[in-house]
Amino acid sequence: MYKYDPKSLKAEEFINHEEILETLKYADENKDNLELVDSLLDKAGQLKGLTHREASVLLACEDEQRVQRMYSLAEQIKKDFYGNRIVMFAPLYLSNYCVNGCVYCPYHLKNKHICRKKLTQEEIKNEVIALQDMGHKRLAIEAGEDPVNNPIEYILESIKTIYSIKHKNGAIRRVNVNIAATTVENYRKLKEAGIGTYILFQETYHKESYEKLHPTGPKHNYAYHTEAMDRAMEGGIDDVGLGVLFGLELYRYEFAGLLMHAEHLEAVHGVGPHTISVPRIKKADDIDPDVFDNGISDETFGKICALIRICVPYTGMIISTRESEEVRSKVIHYGVSQISGASKTSVGGYAEDSEPENSEQFDVSDQRTLDEVVNWLMRNDYIPSFCTACYREGRTGDRFMALCKNRQIQNCCHPNALMTLKEYLMDYASDDTREIGEKMIQKELLNIPNEKVRRICEEHLKDIENNKRDFRF
Ligand code: SAM
Repeated sequence: MYKYDPKSLKAEEFINHEEILETLKYADENKDNLELVDSLLDKAGQLKGLTHREASVLLACEDEQRVQRMYSLAEQIKKDFYGNRIVMFAPLYLSNYCVNGCVYCPYHLKNKHICRKKLTQEEIKNEVIALQDMGHKRLAIEAGEDPVNNPIEYILESIKTIYSIKHKNGAIRRVNVNIAATTVENYRKLKEAGIGTYILFQETYHKESYEKLHPTGPKHNYAYHTEAMDRAMEGGIDDVGLGVLFGLELYRYEFAGLLMHAEHLEAVHGVGPHTISVPRIKKADDIDPDVFDNGISDETFGKICALIRICVPYTGMIISTRESEEVRSKVIHYGVSQISGASKTSVGGYAEDSEPENSEQFDVSDQRTLDEVVNWLMRNDYIPSFCTACYREGRTGDRFMALCKNRQIQNCCHPNALMTLKEYLMDYASDDTREIGEKMIQKELLNIPNEKVRRICEEHLKDIENNKRDFRF
């Protein structure tokens, strides 16, 4: 039997099965202990974060009034830490060749009817131009695991291509990477290629289920997958993104595991995850989500989002277009900090006029254009931000966290959001979006506390009107 130790580098010790079972037991025993629940909410309200045990009590608590307090606290914390900005991004699927056997993913090796495709560098260029023409500045690249078709050299070359393309006023300024667990050496190469966050979803923290859900291929190795973030950190990547694929296992188990993973990173590397994603399993070619027994309701999904926000206040939270406009409208108030817009999950989906052949990873629920999403955010009083400044200014890992903790975000991220929104309005927005956006910028300029920063920001906004680009604090 393994012993729980958040500082251990062994998967089964820092994500310890017995500790999770004990946590769930503790949560069941205490979920109606409203005195404890209130004290945990008070602690969270002081932005101290909560441990996996404390957080699990809140997840188990069903007292309506307390649950409402979790939601309002999540919104409050998001506003205190991050303000009302929502960072925009899009996924870019490079290749769906894959040697793994993940039973929930249409890329699995045995799926013979999905159209396999790997973009050439020329095709990547066309995709990037299409993304730039929408207004995107930040991408998350996605690929199946296939050492022959998608070796690290292919990924690195693709990153280089993406950064090199400057179409009209467009540019991709941050490339995040979501590829399979790999070696320290390869992480070092990704770091040198200038990536932003390395994202890897755990899928499930439950080892036994993990092994069944990944019956074949390199991803079958639970420890290698679970320890990937430690190797990424060793390779010099200090912004890492965690996630669970909700629907595969019992959500309470996953939630405790996710927070234990965050605690482990903090304990060993002194910095927690940069982001947490909350994907839910979706219908896809050869995949019926109903065969997985652990699907979660929209309500539980919302509660998980709110609790992530209050338990790890320094971590960004990402919602993809797997979620519908309706669900996104709800959870946007629970502390989400990043959303994708106008996503295509097929390989080559952005440049092709008609829907490309069957190569999607999953069905997209939110089908709106980027302009529609930007417009919608502003109508809900959120500032869509196309900012990519932090990692370009070396504010990664603990330096980004310091910015958060010192409450300097409002003098840094806020003007950056306004300047990148201005670029979007000048270059890509519809008339209606531009009109709403201009008003928003004028209003939000007043929320930059430092007068000097505000003045510089105003000057840069004028520069952007005069066709200059890419200012940042
Ligand atoms: N191949 C890489 C890996 O194995 O980690 C990462 C890329 S994969 C394209 C991105 C993520 O999509 C997976 O980690 C998984 O969580 C998610 N995914 C796979 N099948 C899905 C489905 N049917 N519905 C929703 N998300 C899915």
